[in-house]
Amino acid sequence: MSDKSLKQTAQDLRNQLNTWAREYYSLDKPTVPDDVYDKKYQELVNIEHAHPELITPDSPTQRVGGQVLKGFEKINHEIPMLSLGDVFSKEELGNFVDNLDKNLDEKIDYNCELKIDGLAISLVYRKGIFVQGSTRGNGRIGEDITQNLRTIKSVPLKLSEPVDVEVRGECYMPKKSFVELNERQEKEGKQIFANARNAAAGSLRQLDSRITSDRKLSTFIYYLMEPEKFGVTTQSQALEKMRSWGFKIDPDFKVAHDKEEIFEYIDKYQEKRASLTYDIDGIVIKANPFSVHREVGNTVKVPRWAIAYKFPPDEQETIVRDIEWTVGRTGVVTPTAIMDPVQLAGTTVSRASLHNPDYIKEKDIRIGDTVKLHKAGDIIPEISMVVLSKRPNDSVPYPIPKNCPECGAKLVHLDDEVALRCINPKCPALVKESLTHFASRNAMDIRGLGTRIIAQLYDKKLVKDIADIYKLTIDELLQLDKIKEKSANNLLTAIDNSRENSLERLLFGLGIRHVGAKAAKLIAQHFKTMDRIKEASVEEICSIKTMGTIIAESIVTYFDSKEVDELLEELKKARVNMSYTGESEAEILENAANSPFNGLRVVLTGTLDHLKRADAKKWLEAHGAKVTGSVSSKTNLLIAGHDAGSKLTKAENLKIKIINEETFIQQMEEED
Ligand code: NAD
Repeated sequence: MSDKSLKQTAQDLRNQLNTWAREYYSLDKPTVPDDVYDKKYQELVNIEHAHPELITPDSPTQRVGGQVLKGFEKINHEIPMLSLGDVFSKEELGNFVDNLDKNLDEKIDYNCELKIDGLAISLVYRKGIFVQGSTRGNGRIGEDITQNLRTIKSVPLKLSEPVDVEVRGECYMPKKSFVELNERQEKEGKQIFANARNAAAGSLRQLDSRITSDRKLSTFIYYLMEPEKFGVTTQSQALEKMRSWGFKIDPDFKVAHDKEEIFEYIDKYQEKRASLTYDIDGIVIKANPFSVHREVGNTVKVPRWAIAYKFPPDEQETIVRDIEWTVGRTGVVTPTAIMDPVQLAGTTVSRASLHNPDYIKEKDIRIGDTVKLHKAGDIIPEISMVVLSKRPNDSVPYPIPKNCPECGAKLVHLDDEVALRCINPKCPALVKESLTHFASRNAMDIRGLGTRIIAQLYDKKLVKDIADIYKLTIDELLQLDKIKEKSANNLLTAIDNSRENSLERLLFGLGIRHVGAKAAKLIAQHFKTMDRIKEASVEEICSIKTMGTIIAESIVTYFDSKEVDELLEELKKARVNMSYTGESEAEILENAANSPFNGLRVVLTGTLDHLKRADAKKWLEAHGAKVTGSVSSKTNLLIAGHDAGSKLTKAENLKIKIINEETFIQQMEEED
């Protein structure tokens, strides 16, 4: 790159970083994730390192923190409140330790601490009484927030000894308080904080300390000024000393004797991170002896005796190799991204649902694209974005299939659905899926007739629709792979027994859209025979408790077909029972009370592809759940469609159980 364009690049980076820093530090409203900021920052550091003549006084590399806000008294930090140098890999951390060791005469220990994701504060005590508290500000001048700090319970107003001392530490907002705060803010239509650190900063810099008091902040103290005055010679001793005076110290610190022990500490807390009640964004490693602090000193911005190891974001980059489309029982064709396998939050991930064509178009996901992958709610792999800078030159938008991948029939969007469907009733994928559904436990319950056998029966043209199941002979079954006489006979008996099933099993087994097992039971119980159901109007069906127009219309449409008439005739000929022999309506409703959803507080969020939200709500309510609009600590379950936003984040932070739409549908089917 020419010098001129390098100068321009540095200037552009500075402008961009300064804008982000203002949003982050002064407005407590970051507009990009920290790792995006960190990467750009590192780019600038690299340029300035190679070309020191390009460094300008306004460069973010020359400043410690944010600006000093108006409205607060200014406080001079006689000893500047520094930031920390960062490393992002164990290798870099190893180099830091090696370099420090090389410059010292003796081998030293390192104190490992959690890097609390809050904001730095300074507390001054005279004769053991709290007299002044401030923010870091720009490192040299901070803001006087004494009144606000007084409201925080972990800040002692009086120490156990009458010492004159200044200590520094981190003020943070516990995850739980953060979630509750955002919930309140949302209700009142106020600003939503991006993370607990910004929420803590925003809460501490309030001109009205009653607001700070409401915000449930806490502190961990990690720095003792002039330790020699108190006879302590190491960082770990200083922490113990400050604890004895009454400060809250993070109990997880540990003295490491070598690099291996430091790495073990990192691994341990990387794993424990999610279960801590407060956010950490890394580990701080400090030379334990204070003599080393004095010996190596500080740069303008950071100490040379400490370093922060930042955790990688819970996100991985990988490449999309293919998009696979699968046809479900109801004909919905769902795309799944097939990617190079990556390790993500403890498991190997190579597939992620892309939900529907609109989702692919909106995110503009293409074959060959590098994408960022994360796990929503720590469980569901989701592509967050395409890394456009890594897109191959010859890339083309992904062509959404127009035809069914199984049978080639034209795919359609029904009503206003985003999902794409194959509506060819003879589509092999659909037929196989619907045969499997017919035989499944909650439908006709034909033991031994699973996916594998059905696929063989279909491929050998022995079964092409459900009526054919009842025509199967022992000789035909014996043609199948791995089927011996005994299992063939068992299967025939199971098929035979299913003829006696009560009507609701058959009704559910037909696979009518929106008709789950529970709805089938209520309908069968109400109308008693298949012939009466066939003749029922939308109004008549809707008169049944918990039954809505969507289900009713779907039933009426289903039976208004010559093919269905023929199928029912065939089943009658096969002596399949067509009347209700099951329990009463009261019993059915009582069973709903036994549902695992009974008594749960459930929140629905994000875009649902297969269910209408109103139907999902109705179903949940019919199963005893209470459906609410916002996530709180009382919520038991979050059902998250894709592109879920702040409710998902809140639920994640509160460790509320989260399931996606597919799992929910599965559970509905198991239930019904
Ligand atoms: P930092 O957060 O990277 O690390 C230094 C701070 O760590 C210290 O000042 C202290 O407050 C804290 N800390 C927590 N636990 C500690 C412990 N045990 N011992 C010592 N210190 C501890 O540095 P920073 O200057 O406060 O912030 C810079 C970071 O802010 C960047 O790396 C970036 O991630 C983020 N940032 C983001 C944006 C954005 O737009 N997203 C903008 C500006 C800055």
